[in-house]
Amino acid sequence: MRIGIIGAGQLGQMLGFAARDLDVACVFIDPSDRPPAAVCGEVIQRPFDDPEALAELAATCDVVTYEFENVPVEALHRIEDKVAVYPPASALQHSQDRLAEKQLFDRLGIPLPGYHVVDTRDDLDAAVDRLGLPLVVKTRRLGYDGKGQVVIREHGDIDTAWQSVGGNALIAEQWVPFDYEVSCIGVRNVGGDVVIYPLSHNVHESGILRTSRSPIEAPALAETAEHYVRTMLEHLDYVGTLALELFVCGEDLLANEFAPRVHNSGHWSIEGSRTSQFENHLRAILNRSLGSTASVGHAGMVNLIGEIPDAAREIDGAFVHEYGKSPRAGRKLGHITLVGDTAAARDKFLDTIYRIVTQSSTLTGNSA
Ligand code: AMP
Repeated sequence: MRIGIIGAGQLGQMLGFAARDLDVACVFIDPSDRPPAAVCGEVIQRPFDDPEALAELAATCDVVTYEFENVPVEALHRIEDKVAVYPPASALQHSQDRLAEKQLFDRLGIPLPGYHVVDTRDDLDAAVDRLGLPLVVKTRRLGYDGKGQVVIREHGDIDTAWQSVGGNALIAEQWVPFDYEVSCIGVRNVGGDVVIYPLSHNVHESGILRTSRSPIEAPALAETAEHYVRTMLEHLDYVGTLALELFVCGEDLLANEFAPRVHNSGHWSIEGSRTSQFENHLRAILNRSLGSTASVGHAGMVNLIGEIPDAAREIDGAFVHEYGKSPRAGRKLGHITLVGDTAAARDKFLDTIYRIVTQSSTLTGNSA
């Protein structure tokens, strides 16, 4: 068995490690020099939509998948009549455009913050009138980790916001005074079986995920989130792992965005679940039976961003994952997972690790 993976970043690396455990070979396409996944498979060093590289994947692999959502949809279309490509191109297409994504949530009855399409300065004024302040303006395409976003808190901010992002296709969104953020990760295989992971509670800093913990004691929210994810998986005839990020407002959940791939907020599943999100993604696309998503204890995860302090490598009882990327402000270089016997023990250990990781950390820029 051989899987083709478009993208060879850290998500590709963790998929590659899971594939090795399943005795499946991986080949990646990635234009960068020595990307993280190079340690677990051959990398064809070409652009993601390079026709020859894609043809090679189609000719030599049993199935093709991708590890990030900025892969051009045309790249999938180019090969999908020659080899099975999962998740389906329609899922990728919706996730690449925040408007299409929001229209999908609307169609499926998944609640979301109020939004307004902004192409011109007049549209922005109309958005402020309709949605009120504060609001956040986001580029519809190619934004990630808080990039391409600007918050308008008062009328005086509108000009500056327009100067910073005007000219792009934009969307304005109501600012949500959420209690906290969660994500719900689901997996569907070729045969239509679905498994759902317990909710993850996520904390972002400067738009970048910093910590996750799972499970959390919120059964009603978990049930609602599971319903939303199942609805999406069925509607998209989805195959693979999908992550839905949501804002918690009291008893309500509002959808923020979804990713048609394995997700940073599920990295704890490597040690904290019977079956990791990476293994289940592979099982799904290979049409194998899906593994149990039951938790193993109470898991927490801290991202290593910008730099990895030496002390972070020496924490007794924690699992350190380094991706092999060179340090740069705002860059995700690795993560640390811990598993506690109780939620309280997990939270305490997570706080300790967070302090160690951030004591000398600089978070001055964004870069994946
Ligand atoms: P995004 O790239 O859309 O996932 O945004 C990154 C982070 O910015 C989110 O995880 C939230 O912490 C914050 N954020 C984004 N949109 C909103 C919103 N409409 N209201 C409040 N916070 C937001």
